[in-house]
Amino acid sequence: MLLNEAETQAEALVTYLKEGGGIKEIAVAGSYRRRRETIGDLDILATSADSAKVMRRFVSYPDAAEVLSQGDTRSTIKLRGGLQVDLRAIEPAAYGAGLLYFTGSKAHNVELRQLAQGKDLKLNEYGLFRGTRRVAGKTEEEIYTKLGLEWIPPELREARGEIALAREHRLPKLVELKDIRGDLQMHTNATDGKGTIDEMAAAARQLDYEYIAITDHSKRVTMALGLDPKRLREQWKTIDEWNATGRGLTILKSVEMDILESGKLDLPDDVLAEADYVVATIHYGINQTAKEITSRLVRAAQHPWVDAIGHPTGRILGKREPYPLDFDTLAHACATSGCLLELNGHPERMDLPDTLAASAKQHGVRLVLSTDSHQPTTLPFMTYAVDLARRGGLEAGDILNTRPLAEFRAGLKRAVGGGKGR
Ligand SMILES: [Zn+2]
Ligand SMILES: [Zn+2]
Repeated sequence: MLLNEAETQAEALVTYLKEGGGIKEIAVAGSYRRRRETIGDLDILATSADSAKVMRRFVSYPDAAEVLSQGDTRSTIKLRGGLQVDLRAIEPAAYGAGLLYFTGSKAHNVELRQLAQGKDLKLNEYGLFRGTRRVAGKTEEEIYTKLGLEWIPPELREARGEIALAREHRLPKLVELKDIRGDLQMHTNATDGKGTIDEMAAAARQLDYEYIAITDHSKRVTMALGLDPKRLREQWKTIDEWNATGRGLTILKSVEMDILESGKLDLPDDVLAEADYVVATIHYGINQTAKEITSRLVRAAQHPWVDAIGHPTGRILGKREPYPLDFDTLAHACATSGCLLELNGHPERMDLPDTLAASAKQHGVRLVLSTDSHQPTTLPFMTYAVDLARRGGLEAGDILNTRPLAEFRAGLKRAVGGGKGR
């Protein structure tokens, strides 16, 4: 199940449990807490003075289709949507240990247990023990501290080197949602979106954004009534007029421009040069070889008026695998040309995947975060782009749309190498 769907269900269930009273602490652990893009099931942990009462409320949840087991400290239900949910009652002294254990990942926990053994300690879901004495367990922080580590954010707990970094106090200071100043991919009803420019802008102002890019499709995407130069310039004129009214938000004149099957771009240079920001993407010819697709993306990345490559692997979760792509070659081209790579936080895309986001950073590529919204109500999905960035170990400094507008513009390739610096 996609993360955003799991989140809707998890939040409703946690609210319901809290409304029953008597719960001190409650958290959804597992891959949900690590913010993975898809979720298998939910593991909820709670502390309470009367756990039997909490369990009774849990198994009578109105949205439960089936009660798979019921006990005083652990019960399992299946929701109507098919999601299986485990609720465990934990004693307060072991809450941190339980949270750590059930958050995982398994591989991260294995490394922690080995580290504990090296210090003559034993780590399990009930605490960190020396012999039979519990030396930590109430909070995750005290367990990590006793193991000689900084507290590790759940998004990084994948056994990808985070424990070594935590030991050396070199963990990244992960980007947060509040760092993001604008959304760089969204569509309007000029193509396949549902809202007007005005409605998208109003939703962006609700989020206190400083700027957004309206990125309707270019003409190759005929299914979405993609824009030709004439319609695009008309839209940009409307945007100029909107910006001139000074409403505390800047709309960037932009376009999601198709990289054609031939490798050519879907719009001429003189049009692209007039934009504030151009994101180039592939929607067609995705069955080409890795060599062909890579060379299309590299050529686009090196083009003077292409600022970013959007949804770079083209994956659709559960529906379409990433297209074959030599990512290192693309990342190298982006690093040398100053082209940005997008982290598309649309819950069905989540593209780049976390490991490639980390790899992009290693290559010295700067990233931008977007929601690829097709309606005003999904702009808050930026939280999923941030989840992805955090799983990739990214800091605010790695992401250009954490910068104020002037700095954002100055960081674009078009400002320096494009030919008409602004
Ligand atoms: Zn697209
Ligand atoms: Zn799009």
